[in-house]
Amino acid sequence: MKVAERFGSGHRILVTGGAGFVPSHLVDALIARGCTVVALDNFVTGSKENVAHLLDRPTFTLIEADISDGLPTHHPALAERFDAILHMASPASPTDFAQLPVEIMRVGSVGTLHLLDRAVADGARFLMASTSEAYGDPKEHPQRETYWGNVNPIGVRSVYDEAKRFSEAATMAYHRYRGLDAAIVRIFNTYGPRMRPDDGRAIPTFISQALRGEPITVHGTGNQTRSICFVEDLVRGILLLLDSTETGPINCGTEHELTMRQLAELIVSLSDSTSEVTYITRSSDDPEMRRPDLALARELLGYEPTVAPEDGLRRTIEYFRARLG
Ligand code: NAD
Repeated sequence: MKVAERFGSGHRILVTGGAGFVPSHLVDALIARGCTVVALDNFVTGSKENVAHLLDRPTFTLIEADISDGLPTHHPALAERFDAILHMASPASPTDFAQLPVEIMRVGSVGTLHLLDRAVADGARFLMASTSEAYGDPKEHPQRETYWGNVNPIGVRSVYDEAKRFSEAATMAYHRYRGLDAAIVRIFNTYGPRMRPDDGRAIPTFISQALRGEPITVHGTGNQTRSICFVEDLVRGILLLLDSTETGPINCGTEHELTMRQLAELIVSLSDSTSEVTYITRSSDDPEMRRPDLALARELLGYEPTVAPEDGLRRTIEYFRARLG
């Protein structure tokens, strides 16, 4: 299936969380297509630095605002209609679950509702960034979109899992009953330049430790697996979904599965580090295995990830090396 480019030159796109890791790469890709992009961010986990290179472009506007309080009415860039809204705003790392629990629940609930109302008013396509966490600690492997998940509603990760599940339900309600042109992407573990070194996720943690020559701290036995997707592949998948008329939810990521132990060893070797791999207590509700079934993304969008872990990790290590000095 080949998806034709639907959003390009002259289209106005709103990206919430636009100064974050994944969203800033999406903003780059949309600007490269000729879109006019308004990025809205409260910088709770994102950084102006991620979009600093775009600030003097006439087709780019960055607005500081908390989307949980609604869209600011005063800003002229928000007065005109949007052709598409990409709702990417949400803290997303395990350290955020403990530090920003209420913020996560607010942006995934009231924040999403504000944007859904705006998308209906504008007749815009609405794309919501969901997550593999919607499957919780899955009993089905790999995870297909038809699987309903295994989520502990009161566990430490529930603030994120349930906020995203609410967002999905709200998006489907607006699609079914208010005629919204909607799309939901379930994003699996993604990595790349512009991640925060201290965000608590395995890849930035391992890379920072390897570059500093500190012990690599793998949680548990290190036998738990993740499939890791380079941000460039993810952005291509999200744009394919945006351009299509599909609603989804559709998984996006890679099928290449690594154990945490393999990941740690690969990072040590690619960064020419002398760090030792060590094992520490595992956090509760940490899923054992996670890998997307990408059959739907292939069939409906023609999506295929192409970046090998060695290449993506090398590029990420270079970014961290430059940042950590
Ligand atoms: P990130 O924290 O780098 O980006 C999120 C951005 O949203 C940040 O810039 C943050 O400041 C902003 N934000 C948060 N709350 C906001 C609010 N109330 N108002 C305005 N801005 C707000 O995280 P990321 O990893 O790039 O994730 C981006 C999106 O993709 C998130 O919705 C996340 O849930 C989803 N996702 C990411 C992954 C991944 O592996 N990176 C996996 C699954 C889902």
